Amino acid sequence: MPPVDVQYFAYAGLRSTVRLRDGRIYVRLSDLFVSAPDETVEALLRILFAKLLRRRVRSEWNAAYRRFAVRDDVVSASEAARRARGRKRLAGPSGRVYDLEAMFDRINAEYFGSTVERPRLGWTLRDSWRTHGHYDPAHGTIAISRSLDVPETPEFVVEFVLFHEMLHVAMPAEVRDGRHLHHSARFRRAEARHPRMADAVKWLEGFAAKNGTRRRRRRLSRRG
Ligand SMILES: [Zn+2]
Repeated sequence: MPPVDVQYFAYAGLRSTVRLRDGRIYVRLSDLFVSAPDETVEALLRILFAKLLRRRVRSEWNAAYRRFAVRDDVVSASEAARRARGRKRLAGPSGRVYDLEAMFDRINAEYFGSTVERPRLGWTLRDSWRTHGHYDPAHGTIAISRSLDVPETPEFVVEFVLFHEMLHVAMPAEVRDGRHLHHSARFRRAEARHPRMADAVKWLEGFAAKNGTRRRRRRLSRRG
């Protein structure tokens, strides 16, 4: 067993890392774990070592970790750390073709009775063909992939992507069995009320297939 160096670190959120370097194991835990119960820290260390050694992570360790991670006070402390320590890099809302703020106000009036508070809106700084949009509650931002901000993208497609992210603002994730459920059945029902959802999803799938072949990786294959 190599020597182990464990430190708390002021990460922008609930994060932990482990790595083996020069015959020494370096573990860094978010300082949000300072107040965690022993069972959480023990489970987390077991998970990290299992990952380092490519062993199976036992479900009871994950369960013990999640009991802590989904606590309301932990979630809000984590979001506060991200707000304070993290920086959200985003281009402005007015793109080459589409203006997200004007679009937001239109969708808000049409589908939400103008009840959704407008977060910071912007285009991503990088192209992304498979993740079209993202809502970040910690930073209060909606980011839309700048790849969509081109004349070839029909307006209803950008509108649908923004509508989906606005639903996330209006319907915060549900916690079930210790997991955050972002796309609950209730969410999917609300999403399906968009009259052009089927057309938009079909267009986006074609768009991803056409542009994303060079980097077909799993982490990009989810609809965000
Ligand atoms: Zn989503």
